[in-house]
Amino acid sequence: MPLFRLLQNPLGDFLYAVGFFVEYTLVRLFRRLRMVFCWLRRALGNLLLLALRPPIQALLDLGVALHSPGRFLLGYLLPAAATIGLILLVRAGLSLPFALRVTVNGQTVGYVASEEAFDNARADVLARVNSARELLAADRQTLSWDLEPSYTLSISDVTMTESEVANEILRISGSEISEATAVYVDGVLCFVTTEGDHLRRYLNSIKAPWEDPTSQTTRVSFVHGLRLVDGIYLTDSVVPYADVLAALQANDGEDLQVKVSERITETQEIPYDTETQEDSELDFGKSETVQEGVPGSEAVTRELTYINGTLVDDQVVDVQVQQSPTPEIIRRGTRLKNGMIGKLGTGTFIWPVPGYRTISRWANLQVRGGHRGVDIAAPYGTPIYASDSGTVVEVVNMHPSWGNYVTIDHGNGYKTLYAHMSSFAVSLGDTVSQGQVIGYVGSTGDSTGNHCHFEMSYNNVLFSAYDVFPNMPIKNPDF
Ligand SMILES: [Zn+2]
Repeated sequence: MPLFRLLQNPLGDFLYAVGFFVEYTLVRLFRRLRMVFCWLRRALGNLLLLALRPPIQALLDLGVALHSPGRFLLGYLLPAAATIGLILLVRAGLSLPFALRVTVNGQTVGYVASEEAFDNARADVLARVNSARELLAADRQTLSWDLEPSYTLSISDVTMTESEVANEILRISGSEISEATAVYVDGVLCFVTTEGDHLRRYLNSIKAPWEDPTSQTTRVSFVHGLRLVDGIYLTDSVVPYADVLAALQANDGEDLQVKVSERITETQEIPYDTETQEDSELDFGKSETVQEGVPGSEAVTRELTYINGTLVDDQVVDVQVQQSPTPEIIRRGTRLKNGMIGKLGTGTFIWPVPGYRTISRWANLQVRGGHRGVDIAAPYGTPIYASDSGTVVEVVNMHPSWGNYVTIDHGNGYKTLYAHMSSFAVSLGDTVSQGQVIGYVGSTGDSTGNHCHFEMSYNNVLFSAYDVFPNMPIKNPDF
């Protein structure tokens, strides 16, 4: 593009001079260009409409034109050529790399893509100047030049970064400047040093023990975003290297704390659900597995964050299901011996003596021969309710230990037993609903006071009711 570069400033000035672009900002420029382009497209459409007259008329015109080559050229070729020329011109105009030429105090700083870029550069310059100002005596002159820029629309395919603009502003300021390295802590320029390489090596040596070159998912950084930026700085702002080190190492090296973020992915099992189908052809309490449950698997990615080696955060950032679980399907029998259809338990339980939370003993199943259920103290005659729906499979009178007791089979693997009753409210083989009264509190059998002894089992293995009712008191202090 050497020819282009020769042309760029005159062309830019020309465009400005003819007032073709009234505003300096690129946004407005492009908006205007887009308007022009739309207008041209409309004009081109009209041209095409003109060109596409009814075929007969066109053929007639062509007949005339063939007898008169001059009119053919004027009537058809020139407008066509002009149209193509316009299209090319507009397309070229739209693809030109427009930029703003920035001038400060009559000196060209360079080309920026937008005014915002310059504003950010100016803020950077002020930060650099302030870092010097703190070190300067109060009476010393600080910033003597005007940072109000003027913009000229130009064509340039080279725009500068904000940092480059800031460097250039300082370079043309006439102040005493040095190439140096700024130290940013939490985004704030804190120090300027000429020992940038030295400092960079020192900081890398602090991070080195935490680096893991074999891991692609480990990121090591400084907690306070410690960042070094090379550039042009006022010579007055340069701090001796030892002072920079001392400041960074102050407060037990707070500024030098290293943060390590590590992503780890582990495969975890997804448990399968169990679906129950009731089957009136199958005996109550019997079950058949229709489909075996198969656990699924998922890849769980967590991000672990350590500060100076101490774990401070552990978050799940991604979960990908690799294999969905296959549900277990169980068919449960509901056919009773008397030919009726029994009620399956819901799988959830209610407290069998509602309102009574005085527990004298929980089950003690770890010990062989330990207590098999929970003892719920309640006055003589208090109703006892079925903890879940099911079928009454035992109604026993005056058992030496349990006294009068009832067992309910819930048909889903669960059974419950209620002992020491004063009297019964159900008979053997009855179907009961959850919450139905089945008997009354007493002290029959091996008992020293009125209470309901309540046992729970699943597939004939006892478990503690405390697992189902964890909000009940662990033990009443009176016992
Ligand atoms: Zn008991």
